[in-house]
Amino acid sequence: MNYTKNKFGRELKTILDCGYNSNKIGEWAHSIHLQQCGEINKELEEVLFDLFVLEEGPEFELSIEELNKLADKLIEEGDREELTDSLQEVKEVATILEGRWLMCPFCQESWESESKLSLVRCPNCSNLSHNPVVKTD
Ligand SMILES: [Zn+2]
Repeated sequence: MNYTKNKFGRELKTILDCGYNSNKIGEWAHSIHLQQCGEINKELEEVLFDLFVLEEGPEFELSIEELNKLADKLIEEGDREELTDSLQEVKEVATILEGRWLMCPFCQESWESESKLSLVRCPNCSNLSHNPVVKTD
């Protein structure tokens, strides 16, 4: 079972919601590193290392805003990677209408999309379809 950025980001947010305590976050990062040893990707590991130092003392403290921003970033990146992971399963392709407007192959809803990702999510029915703007090889 892979420990995803998305999951990590959401857990971090939950901890921050209970009140900011840099020691607690440092300890939490340590315990994740121990539990998930060898199962986390390099990028997430680096994030964990940044959080370890929070235990060392107040001079290393990050503000709650910085930590929240970090959590948001990880959730967003995680979402994006999950989209990429579903790539093989999705068969339908959205239709280009005009300009940046796409049409959902499931419910015919149209929406304006600036996405450069391979898959787009319909704002109406939430189904994923291939982004016709992106050329895959
Ligand atoms: Zn739809």
